[in-house]
Amino acid sequence: MKAMILNQLGTIADNKNPLALVDMPDPVPRDKEILIKVSTCGVCHTELDEIEGRTPPPKLPVILGHQIIGRVQTSGAAATKFSKGERVGVAWIHSACGRCHFCRSGAENLCERFKATGRDVHGGYAEYATVSEDFAYKIPEVFTDSQAAPLLCAGAIGYRSMRLSGVEDHQNMGLTGFGASAHLVLNMVHHKYPNTNVFVFARSKKERDFARQLGAFWTGDTAAEPPEKLDRIIDTTPAWKPVIEALACLKPGGRLVINAIRKEESDKKTLLNLDYPRHLWQEKEIKSVANVARADVSEFLQLAAEIQMKPEVQEFELKDANRALVELKQRKIRGAKVLKIG
Ligand SMILES: [Zn+2]
Ligand SMILES: [Zn+2]
Repeated sequence: MKAMILNQLGTIADNKNPLALVDMPDPVPRDKEILIKVSTCGVCHTELDEIEGRTPPPKLPVILGHQIIGRVQTSGAAATKFSKGERVGVAWIHSACGRCHFCRSGAENLCERFKATGRDVHGGYAEYATVSEDFAYKIPEVFTDSQAAPLLCAGAIGYRSMRLSGVEDHQNMGLTGFGASAHLVLNMVHHKYPNTNVFVFARSKKERDFARQLGAFWTGDTAAEPPEKLDRIIDTTPAWKPVIEALACLKPGGRLVINAIRKEESDKKTLLNLDYPRHLWQEKEIKSVANVARADVSEFLQLAAEIQMKPEVQEFELKDANRALVELKQRKIRGAKVLKIG
């Protein structure tokens, strides 16, 4: 099969072509695994974190990509859930131990033996991929393959971050950063909490315009002061400055949810500006979001189908994955980037 593989870690600034197109043997599904003929795979900021070493793959070379849509080609001897040709998705959670306290309480996203698709095992920047049938999802028919891919990460983790924010109807919700995940969260919040106003902080005017088109109540630069204080804010940026700025915008008792697998080091010094009375006192909280559990993915897919949430996508060919990643790095974002493979 054709695959884009990562051979070596390094910064995008130093190497604009971190992935190489290769031919390699098709994977073979074992036991409870299914073999998926990949049709689309979403491109996620986490791939940059993997390539640049902030969340490095334990073994190289590896095939990145954790928002996989495809059709079941064959099944392992013990796999019975899906039939040939059925459309399925694979998300960031590739497997967990199934036995620990976290796994048994539905917090498998925190399992010590959590394995991530496209980091700890091969992912979807390829013509074929395998996964245990217990970690594959049926995809609602309302979505095309390209629309469905970004739902699997940006959407599912957006859903988890919205849930962890604890937002209630009539509260003010802030979103700092407006990429693939945030624009889906904006849609979800409007649907689930119709009286909640959404305030969007984004560096680029394009992103702010896009947010307004999607019904944001207010938009401004990451450092702008919103007209009202906010109850909840979700940060999806890779930087630290927006964290400090968001804390200053919170009401007493407000909560900031950081939806980022890693933060970049470049502006870490900004944290020295943390002023306890202004940024944290009055019972403000900070909470991070780690991975996704299977329930997040399935609940979110159902919600997305219900409200016909169709993400804006920009398609690339598999061989152009490097270009998609570079554009993502340069924050040229309008909706979600998707590789069209099959
Ligand atoms: Zn992702
Ligand atoms: Zn476990």
